[in-house]
Amino acid sequence: MSVNLNVNPLENWIKLKSKPLVIAGPCSAETPEQLLATAQGLKKLKVDILRAGIWKPRTRPNSFEGAGTEGLKWLAEVKKEVGIPVGTEVANPQHIEEALKYGVDVLWIGARTTVSPFAVQEMADALKGVKDVAVLVKNPTHPELGLWLGAFERLFLAGIKNLAGIHRGFAMYEKTKYRNAPVWQIPIELKRVAPQIPIICDPSHIGGKRDLIFEISQKAMDLNFDGLMIETHIDPDKAWSDADQQITPERLGEILSELKIRESSSNDPEFIDHLDELRKKIDNLDRELIETLAARMAVVEKIGEYKKESNVTTFQVKRWDEIMKNRGELAKKMGLSEAYIIEIYKIIHEESIRKQSELMRSVEAK
Ligand code: PEP
Ligand code: MN
Repeated sequence: MSVNLNVNPLENWIKLKSKPLVIAGPCSAETPEQLLATAQGLKKLKVDILRAGIWKPRTRPNSFEGAGTEGLKWLAEVKKEVGIPVGTEVANPQHIEEALKYGVDVLWIGARTTVSPFAVQEMADALKGVKDVAVLVKNPTHPELGLWLGAFERLFLAGIKNLAGIHRGFAMYEKTKYRNAPVWQIPIELKRVAPQIPIICDPSHIGGKRDLIFEISQKAMDLNFDGLMIETHIDPDKAWSDADQQITPERLGEILSELKIRESSSNDPEFIDHLDELRKKIDNLDRELIETLAARMAVVEKIGEYKKESNVTTFQVKRWDEIMKNRGELAKKMGLSEAYIIEIYKIIHEESIRKQSELMRSVEAK
């Protein structure tokens, strides 16, 4: 699958001082003083867009739900004062109308809204004919690419060309070290099927903790993400929402200067030659891997026929247990992660069982 979303490149709609695009600002606009002090701290840094939540999608009622229209007035004031474009989250057509009225430059659709095609379509309809607005779409809360892509398509069909994605991680039932597990394969797959869409990483909502912000940001940079959105507050411990993950403008400055920003490619002939050589090695190894998998499958089929003749079930738990233990240990000995090899073996085993079941059925049908 590939999707033709010919959106405008980032540089067409935002004056980038340098790579990556940086969006920073508080989770929520709380008071005019908090917003202004934070923005003044950010003005000294390479920050391209000031973010501030005006309407906050809180999981439970009776938490701070944002300053609303009043906050938009502060945002407009601060924009005038510090001269940085501003952005906020919108979840319905009324939010869009209000935000645009107060000069908000960048709108974003939050993770809890991207999951609803009705809500996204209503907003896309409200944005029809609106010139120069940029819309960022956060990934849906659960690990699924389809709804994320669907949101881009709805906005694109409504004529919005200044589009980008925000990767903010995914809610998981199991506990992980993250607030929202990054599941990097999903933004990588988005890049593959819709390569024109710039992707911004939100390490604040992925990590949920201050001390994870740097490593997640670096990982995003190593994966060639186009930007970062980092929650920043003048006094993070006293923040009215997401206090654990917000950092001071000062800390943001340190993070930005410590990040290693790599080039997405190089023209150095020596580098190109060497990379080419290594890629050829990978191509050969992959061929061998696939040949080995095909040879393995041929044996699996033989076993399947044999099991059928001897009237034995396809799945034998003891054998499966042995394989998992043995392959995991072998992986460790070879310096590979046990979890990585076990995941691969789960897929190999699933396919073997599928093949053997198919074989049993086809033999039965004869
Ligand atoms: C936010 O950016 O403040 C926010 C609520 O994010 P998300 O939609 O990713 O939860
Ligand atoms: Mn937040």
